Amino acid sequence: VETVLALDVGGTKMAAGVVGADGRLLARATRPTPDAPDGEAVLAALLDAAAEVRTGEEVACGVGSGGPMTAGGELVSPLNIAGWRSFPLRARLADALGVAVHVDNDAKALALAEGWRGAARGERDFLAMVVSTGVGGGLVLDGRLLDGGDGNAGHIGHLVVEPDGRRCACGGRGCLEAEASGTAIAARTGAPASAASVEERRRAGRMVGRAVGSTAALLDLRLAVVAGSVALGFGDDFFAAAQDELERTARISFARGAVIRPAGLGDEGPLVGASAVAWRALGHAILVTGT
Ligand SMILES: [Zn+2]
Repeated sequence: VETVLALDVGGTKMAAGVVGADGRLLARATRPTPDAPDGEAVLAALLDAAAEVRTGEEVACGVGSGGPMTAGGELVSPLNIAGWRSFPLRARLADALGVAVHVDNDAKALALAEGWRGAARGERDFLAMVVSTGVGGGLVLDGRLLDGGDGNAGHIGHLVVEPDGRRCACGGRGCLEAEASGTAIAARTGAPASAASVEERRRAGRMVGRAVGSTAALLDLRLAVVAGSVALGFGDDFFAAAQDELERTARISFARGAVIRPAGLGDEGPLVGASAVAWRALGHAILVTGT
C-alpha cells in the first residue's frame, strides 16, 4: 500500500506519521520542540521523530509548518520557533530524507485535511483555523485551497480584533494571535491556557468569532472549522461564545447562517494535513475540485 511520510512542525511539539492514500494514519511519533536558539537542534528533533516511524517505503514527504514562509516552504520563519529564521526547511529535509519533500503552512495543511476527511468534507467554501500556541488559518474557496503571493493566504492570526490590544509577535497590536492564542492567554492571566477561567475561555471564543465574522463577510463563506489544543480544550464555553460573536458581527445577508464547528480530525488533523500536502503534490484528489 502506498504511503507518505507526514511531518508537523509546531512551536510546542514536532510530530511525524506515516499516512496512506486514504488518509489513514498508520504510525506516529512526537518530540518536544527544543527551546533553543539553534535551528539545527530543532531540525534534529524533527528528523528523530521521522526516524521512529518511517519504513523507507514512503513515496514522498509532506510537511505542515508554522509560518510565515516563502512559497513552497523554501524558507520558513515560524514566529514561535526562534531558531528558524529563513530556515531552508524543504531543501534540508530533502537532503536528510532522500525523498521529494512538499512543505506548506500548517493551517493550510489542516484545511486540506478537514476538507478531505474532516468536518468540512465535501464543502466548497470554508475557513479552517488552528487556535493553539499560535493562531493560524487556511482558506478553501470555490473548492480550491488559496495560496496567495507567498503561500500564506488565510493567516487569520494577524487580523486585528482589538485595536488597542496586546503587542503581537508580528510587530502589530491587537491581532487575534495576540489576544486568543495559548501564549497570549498565558501572558494575560499568568497561568497556562489549560487553567483559564470560564470568562477567559469565552473571551478567546469572542475574539475568534469576531475574526471569523469579518472573514465570512469578506469571502462569502459560511463555515469555519476550528482545531488546536486551546480551542478544543476550552470546548463548549469557547465555541458557544465564538458562534454568538459571529452572529453578532456578520450581519450582511450572505454571511448570515455562518457556523463555527470544532474540527473533525482531532489530534490526527495536523499529520493527515501534512500528508495531504504530499498527496496533492502527487496528483491525488483531496478537495472537491480535485485539487
Ligand atoms: Zn500579529
